[in-house]
Amino acid sequence: MGIRGSKSSQIYLDDVRLPADALLGEVGGGFRIAMSTLDGGRIGIAAQALGIGRAALEDSLAYAQQRRTFRQADRAAPGDRVQARRHGDRARRGAAAHAARAWLKDHKQPYGKEAAMAKLYASDVANRAAREAIQIFGGNGYVTEYPVERHFRDAKITEIYEGTSEIQRLVIAGYLTKGG
Ligand SMILES: Cc1cc2nc3c(=O)[nH]c(=O)nc-3n(C[C@H](O)[C@H](O)[C@H](O)COP(=O)(O)OP(=O)(O)OC[C@H]3O[C@@H](n4cnc5c(N)ncnc54)[C@H](O)[C@@H]3O)c2cc1C
Repeated sequence: MGIRGSKSSQIYLDDVRLPADALLGEVGGGFRIAMSTLDGGRIGIAAQALGIGRAALEDSLAYAQQRRTFRQADRAAPGDRVQARRHGDRARRGAAAHAARAWLKDHKQPYGKEAAMAKLYASDVANRAAREAIQIFGGNGYVTEYPVERHFRDAKITEIYEGTSEIQRLVIAGYLTKGG
């Protein structure tokens, strides 16, 4: 559907046997390693979502400012611009949150909860911004000639991979109920 620059394929591993020295980490520690890898990846997906949201915002602003209908400035544009700005504010707040999460990781502090929060929030903002961008472009938003249908397709994956939004909520709730 989206992120077409990143090709995904299925691979099958049947009856694979590896030598003992190919073990990563400790026996029985695989799940923990896999989960900690996801924590780090979630910061990256939050950054990806912010980029998509920002592109949707910038494209929408540019389009709303140049769009003319019936030789007038587009009547819908001022309202759209307000909406676009609102998404801009959210994106900026998300960016601040994201910077804080990356800082924790860089300083070797626990960041699992914060990474899940950053991903959940940034992916939500990106999807709303991309959906609004299509609306601001109108019919032009729906066709492939303009960039925003791509933002819409690309944004969706950020709510799915590296753990879906529902799973982020479970992860965050888990930390909060444990007092984390
Ligand atoms: C383009 C692409 C690239 C990918 N790249 C990678 C990769 O590099 N590495 C990798 O490991 N994986 C990768 N994935 C897999 C991706 O991480 C999973 O698709 C994703 O985690 C969701 O898992 P699932 O598809 O099994 O969905 P399911 O687990 O079947 O979930 C389906 C729906 O049920 C909901 N759900 C499931 N469990 C619960 C629950 N307990 N409570 C509430 N709701 C729930 C989910 O939120 C979702 O909405 C990729 C997927 C895609 C599409």
